[in-house]
Amino acid sequence: MRLLITGAAGFIGSHLAERFLADGHHVVGLDNLSTGSMDNLASIKDSDSFECVIGSVRDQSLVTELVDQCDVAIHMAAAVGVKYILERPSYSIHTNVNGTENLLHAASGRDKLVLIASTSEVYGKSTKTPFNEADDLVLGSTANMRWSYACAKALDECLALAYAQESKVSTIITRLFNTTGPRQTGRYGMVVPNFIEQAMSNEPITVYGSGDQSRCFSHVADIVEAIVKIINVPKAVGQVFNIGNDQEITIEGLAQMIKDMTDSKSEIIKVPYEQAYTHGFEDM
Ligand code: UDP
Repeated sequence: MRLLITGAAGFIGSHLAERFLADGHHVVGLDNLSTGSMDNLASIKDSDSFECVIGSVRDQSLVTELVDQCDVAIHMAAAVGVKYILERPSYSIHTNVNGTENLLHAASGRDKLVLIASTSEVYGKSTKTPFNEADDLVLGSTANMRWSYACAKALDECLALAYAQESKVSTIITRLFNTTGPRQTGRYGMVVPNFIEQAMSNEPITVYGSGDQSRCFSHVADIVEAIVKIINVPKAVGQVFNIGNDQEITIEGLAQMIKDMTDSKSEIIKVPYEQAYTHGFEDM
């Protein structure tokens, strides 16, 4: 099989590329290296079955050319990370919406499978747990830029379902919950690598807000496994799937766990949201 992986130099994209190559497939990776890095591709960059194209999902003609060459497109490229989104909101919205539409447009009328990576963030402030794919989405005010990411990803899902209905594009939508593992960087705000770096250097571990907010973290290998399986299930086409762990942990609990596991002398401190994020923030 020939796969296009957008965002292949990113954290999850690079693990996916490694896995598909190990399974004997041909992989074309597209990445603009905005948050991804060639270092993430170190183990596969010289493989005869791997091609890396440096370019943007916002480039329709490039996306069309690459989709043409592949059987399956896995769309991981996105502007991600709360810090990144808050600092570059319009670029992030544009990348996250137009990139997805370019891919779907390129697949229209062709016999391609397109997997769109969405996010658990679309559930927003919903308090009904566990989250079910058919649940209402409860988003905050558009004045708070945090929600622009969830809005853009929700629109991506609508686009994918619209293209499926009108242009017979075979799409699978996956809502990925918090994912962590090797090669994740803390640079764009992700909590686990940040806490580990702080703990390993015995710096204060910065818990934002009360620390009572909770998340479900999955190991990237489990997310990769789920994606590998789901693209081979014909009944999955046209549907939305949560992919994540069902074990919740509070952020304060996570800080304590990481402190214990690293045998760190770090102090765990609370940082008010307004100090943690400079452009306004609302957690869930
Ligand atoms: N967080 C934190 N300290 C950090 C980075 C993040 O307490 O150094 C918190 C953040 O406010 C949120 C949670 O950890 O409540 C998860 O943050 P992340 O950005 O990793 O994921 P998301 O909020 O998108 O689920």
